[in-house]
Amino acid sequence: MKIKTKESASALIALLSTVVVAVVLVQAEVRWLPAVLTVLITFALIFVAALFLIRKYVAYKLKPIYSIVLSRNVSTREILEELQDKRVENLGEELTAWADTNDREITRLKEAETFRKQYLGNVAHELKTPIFNIQGYISTLLDGGLEDELINRTYLERADKSILRLINIVSDLDTINKLESNMNSLARDTFDVVALAREIAEQAEMEADKRGIKIEVKGADNLPSPFWVSADKHYVGQVLVNLIINSIRYGKEGGKTRLKFRDMLDKILIEVEDNGQGIAKEDQPRIFERFYRADKGRSREQGGTGLGLAIVKHIIEAHGERISVRSEQGVGSTFSFTLKKVPVRELDK
Ligand code: ADP
Repeated sequence: MKIKTKESASALIALLSTVVVAVVLVQAEVRWLPAVLTVLITFALIFVAALFLIRKYVAYKLKPIYSIVLSRNVSTREILEELQDKRVENLGEELTAWADTNDREITRLKEAETFRKQYLGNVAHELKTPIFNIQGYISTLLDGGLEDELINRTYLERADKSILRLINIVSDLDTINKLESNMNSLARDTFDVVALAREIAEQAEMEADKRGIKIEVKGADNLPSPFWVSADKHYVGQVLVNLIINSIRYGKEGGKTRLKFRDMLDKILIEVEDNGQGIAKEDQPRIFERFYRADKGRSREQGGTGLGLAIVKHIIEAHGERISVRSEQGVGSTFSFTLKKVPVRELDK
């Protein structure tokens, strides 16, 4: 027989006691009416007393658990009141759910801690290289290199390049930090994203020319139509800069970067496509991580910080949108993201 509730346990105790009383009454040959009354009263009294004691015992045993779960001192009386309209057996389920939530929270905190450690390690590692380089160049200059016409200028130029690298890393870190702490304070500007893309493409032209790359900005059906969006213009500009710079950095010499726009119901799809070296399948899911580089050599040589795409992803997601990449090695890469469209009828308001 399984005893599942405090009531059934009390009933069983009462029943056993009543049987003993009944046997005694029969032995003593008590008359049937007082005997039946005594049996009933005994049952009722023992049932109530047992129920009260079991409740008290359970509440006493649950006290430390309740105090842990609620993180405060809980009195036995509070638990007794709680148990009046709750079955003890449901408490098991509730506690398991609480423990599961706690487990998940602990796992999340552990992951966040691992991420924080890795991130700090990466930042230190990234800063170390240019700092040590600068130190090396300056030491050589101080050790007599300054008087050597052959190396003084070269070493100063190299130190200058390393300083620029430091500035780029710190500025990208600063952007990520700002994005993380002000996720909800993005501006909602209404602007023509094609015009913005043209402006940025023009600014990148000099960089593109160095590798003989042409940048094309095309609207729908190759027409220069405006595409009105509602987004933070400054940050969307930064997304376009980072994607265009990457398409030049990892693009093919003499190749092409195309910016395309597509009207898709309530969104505008923006694509930055190059015909460069492409990204290996196994690297594609990771390129948006901070400091992850698929092509370490080219990234460093071209002054990449490894943070460009992490910033891009942050900005797009802060807008509640998504960014994705399609790429094939040796063929090229296409980065696509969406922005909220502003219907033409709303523009006149
Ligand atoms: P980085 O400063 O190194 O360019 P990003 O975060 O911008 O950092 O990019 C991460 C990595 O993704 C790059 O190191 C590069 O290997 C790869 N990548 C980004 N854009 C492209 C692209 N258009 N074509 C090929 N590889 C790319």
